[in-house]
Order: sequence, then structure tokens, then C-alpha cells
Amino acid sequence: MLYLGSHVGMSGKEMFLGSVKEALSYGANTFMVYTGAPQNSKRRPLDELRIEEAKELMKKEGIDKFIIHAPYLINLGNTVNPDIFKLGKEMLTTEIERTYAMGSDVIVLHPGSAVGAEPQAGIAKIIEGLDEVIANTDHVYIALETMAGKGSELGRSIDELKDIIDGVKDNTRLKICIDTCHLNDAGYDVVNGFDAILDEIDEKLGKGRIACAHINDSMNPLGAHKDRHANIGAGTIGLDALKYVVHHPRLDDIVKCLETPYIKNPDDPKDAHAPYKEEIARLRSV
Ligand code: FE
Ligand code: FE
Ligand code: ZN
Repeated sequence: MLYLGSHVGMSGKEMFLGSVKEALSYGANTFMVYTGAPQNSKRRPLDELRIEEAKELMKKEGIDKFIIHAPYLINLGNTVNPDIFKLGKEMLTTEIERTYAMGSDVIVLHPGSAVGAEPQAGIAKIIEGLDEVIANTDHVYIALETMAGKGSELGRSIDELKDIIDGVKDNTRLKICIDTCHLNDAGYDVVNGFDAILDEIDEKLGKGRIACAHINDSMNPLGAHKDRHANIGAGTIGLDALKYVVHHPRLDDIVKCLETPYIKNPDDPKDAHAPYKEEIARLRSV
């Protein structure tokens, strides 16, 4: 089955119930949400999120899978500042508990950045952090996202993800999230070689390792290491290649979410609308 949605917000009075309503308004049958603002660690308590009502609505509308994205400021790859490393572990632990309480079993995580250290030192730190978090939590898969390789970002190649996965003691709860924009920007040819990418992932990380996918076009050429998402069909990957990914039989049943930019009104820069309803419909049609 094709699970296709987008990232959605969570705010105001409706909170998580509003997230589900937003997904439904796009014609989506899945979605991705942050359990609070992605840039900070402020989190509303679980009993204010309206989780039961959200779950009821999902059940009624047939949404049986969705994913959570961890906040950006978690950096388990930081070797220089122990406070940031410690905060990252604490936040990830709390986020995993929230993910489970909200009814999902997948949290997407940016592996981390080596900030000033060698990549291998950052990777060792990520392994240390993941070992601890996995030992202290349960139920939820951590999906390491394939990154574009901007700055000192880690997880910019399948080999780096392999180093992390191989290093973690109990890696049965580690999965990956492929992001089409990031793969392109990291130098993986999504347009002409997507099957080869899947083969490399299966071979190096093990079959069944992909938990979810982010479907984005890219503003930049192959290997640019930039990470700027473009609207579907408006970037260097293009509609046909993204449709190929979305409908790929090897990715059947895997949650796919758009993270494309809002479309700005050229006459009023403050006015922007979500492109997801149209983009989901275009990607769905064969
Ligand atoms: Fe991400
Ligand atoms: Fe992404
Ligand atoms: Zn990105």
C-alpha cells in the first residue's frame, strides 16, 4: 500500500488532533510531526496534546501509521561540548517516550554533526549516545536520516550510516530514513540510479532497514552538499523520478512524507500556502 503524506504542524488548542486534521485536509493517509518546535526543547506535556482524540480520528479515517521527527538541536556527534551531548541524549530519550505515547513507532533523527572534529570522532560519539539511549528506552525505532553533507553533517553517505549501525550494540532498533533531496545533494543519483541506491542500502545496512522516506525535490545539482528542498517537479530531481521512488515496489508500505517549501504569493510575501494537497495528488496519480 502507498502511504503518502507530508510533515504537518502541531500547535494551538487542537495540538495533535489538529495535526491529524491537517494531514486529512491534504488527502494524506500518513504524516510526520514534531512533538514541539523543531528548533528548541520546549515541550507541552503529553496530557495537553489531545492524543486520545487524535487517535480516534485516525482510526475513523484509516490512518494507521505516522512518524515523528526529532528536534534539530539534538547533536549526539558533538565531541567538544559535553553539555550538548548530554542534552541530546536526554531530549532523544524524552522524544522516544512521546513518540510511543502518541502512537508511532518511528522517530527520524539527524545523526549529528562532528563540529570541528574528524568525522570518525563524531561517529564514535553518536554510537556512544545511541547505545545509551537505546538501552534506556523501548518500543520505538530510531530512523537515521540520510543527510546532504552540509558543513560537518554526518550520515552523508551509506558508508557513514553503516559505521554507526555496525558500531551500536543493539542495532535492531536502528533504521534509516531516506531523503531524496539529501541523497541527491550527497551525490547519489536518484534520477538515473535509484535501484542501485536501494541495492547498496540493502547490501551494506541489511534488508528491511528503511523505515521511511522524505520525498523532496532539490534546488541544487547532484553532489552539491547544500540541502535546499524544492517543490515537486520544480527541482533537479523532477516529477518522474520522484514518482518512481514513491511507487517503487521495494518501498511499498513505507511511510513517505513531503517536506517541500510553502508556496509564496508573489504579490504578498507574508502570504504562503502549503503545497501538499496538490503535490500528494500529483505523486499519487500514475
Ligand atoms: Fe530531517
Ligand atoms: Fe528530511
Ligand atoms: Zn533537508
